[in-house]
Amino acid sequence: MPAAGAPHGLNHAKRWMIPRFCRTPAAGNLPSVEGVSLKLEETLFTAEEIRRRVEELSDLIRADYGGRDLHLVAMMKGSLFFAADIIRALGRRVTLGCLVASSYRERTVSEGNVELLTQGMGEVKGRHVLVVDDIVDTGYTLEKIREVLLAHEPATLKFAVFLDKVEMRKVAFDVDYVGYIIPPKWVVGYGLDCAEQYRELGSIRVIDPAGDENGI
Ligand code: 5GP
Ligand code: MG
Repeated sequence: MPAAGAPHGLNHAKRWMIPRFCRTPAAGNLPSVEGVSLKLEETLFTAEEIRRRVEELSDLIRADYGGRDLHLVAMMKGSLFFAADIIRALGRRVTLGCLVASSYRERTVSEGNVELLTQGMGEVKGRHVLVVDDIVDTGYTLEKIREVLLAHEPATLKFAVFLDKVEMRKVAFDVDYVGYIIPPKWVVGYGLDCAEQYRELGSIRVIDPAGDENGI
């Protein structure tokens, strides 16, 4: 569905905007970027909750794929932790590829202009491919990935996404395995960043965009 279709009733003003202080990677391990404090707000999911949820998802995936050959494609860089945990929890043989996507870059809003680097994605043709991503927001990134991967003729193609900001969707996209549905806030931790900060957190935390003129 085109952006103008706004399938979830979002109007222009309500589009999620990446916090300004999350756009430019900051040098060093700073508690603030551009003088704006990167204030960590509530914890949405603790490391222990995440561990249990990942095990549940892995059980579903293992059961669904049975003994079939499985090729995981991890989206860089945000899904690194999630993909690694899924692979360990699956406890079965998989092959692994990666894709690098960039949808925001210097832009303030995600408008669907997604670029994909496919060199590392591995052999897809005729394989059972499971794309693993950190978070789905507008859906443009996953839509683009689906289009690109389908052109390589996988036997099957499914998507596992840790977090889903379902209210923000601009293109209809059904995710096969979802960790959690979350509200439209900027989250960090468990591999997700804000200007390359906070990926190392074991929990998922909200960053407060208050004081940022280009916030929500
Ligand atoms: P979409 O194309 O669905 O709008 O964007 C998906 C991508 O945007 C994700 O893979 C992620 O890179 C980024 N993204 C969207 N929301 C968040 C968020 O709350 N935190 C972080 N760190 N990245 C996000
Ligand atoms: Mg991403």
